[in-house]
Amino acid sequence: MAVRPILQYPDPVLRERARPVDDIGGAVAQLVEDMAETMYAAPGVGLAATQVGVGQRVIVLDVRREDERPGTRLLKLINPEIAEREGEVIWEEGCLSVPELTAPVKRARRVLVRAWTPEEKEVQIEAEELLAVALQHEIDHLDGKLFLDRLSRLKRDLYRARQRKLERQGRKSGSGTRPLLI
Ligand SMILES: [Zn+2]
Repeated sequence: MAVRPILQYPDPVLRERARPVDDIGGAVAQLVEDMAETMYAAPGVGLAATQVGVGQRVIVLDVRREDERPGTRLLKLINPEIAEREGEVIWEEGCLSVPELTAPVKRARRVLVRAWTPEEKEVQIEAEELLAVALQHEIDHLDGKLFLDRLSRLKRDLYRARQRKLERQGRKSGSGTRPLLI
C-alpha cells in the first residue's frame, strides 16, 4: 500500500469526468487500498480517485464516530451512482483538494447509492446526514465537480477573503466545529 499525493485546486485534472471501471475484480484493488491509506493519512473521511489523479469511478469513505476505530466504517465503492435523493441538509464542508476553505453546502439529506465492492458484490447504501453528504461530495469529484461550484460566486469570494484574513491572524476558521474533509 502507498499514500498517494492529493491533487490541489486549481489542478485541471480535478475537473475531468472519471470513467466507469470495467474490470472490477482487476487492477483496481491496488488503487482502492492506496486510496484508503491516503484518506487516513490526510486525514479525511472520504476520497475520490480523481483526487489522486486517476480517472476511474472509485471512492472510499470512513464516516465514523470519534470513539470508533479507523476502518470500522470503511466503504470502498466502485462505479457509485445516486439512485434516489430526498430532503435537504446543510453541512459545513471542506475538501482535501481545496485547502483552507470550508463553507456550508446544501445537499440531499438522504440518498440511496448503488455501487460495487472490490469483491465484485453489488451493494445498495441508504445514507443520511453526514454519510449522505460525504457520498454526494465524492461522487461530485468523479464528475469533475468541487464543492466550490455549489457556492455562489459572492459567497466563494467572501469565504476566501475571510480565510485569508484568519490566516494572517494565525488561526483557522470554524474554531469549535470540525469541518468535514472529503
Ligand atoms: Zn473533496
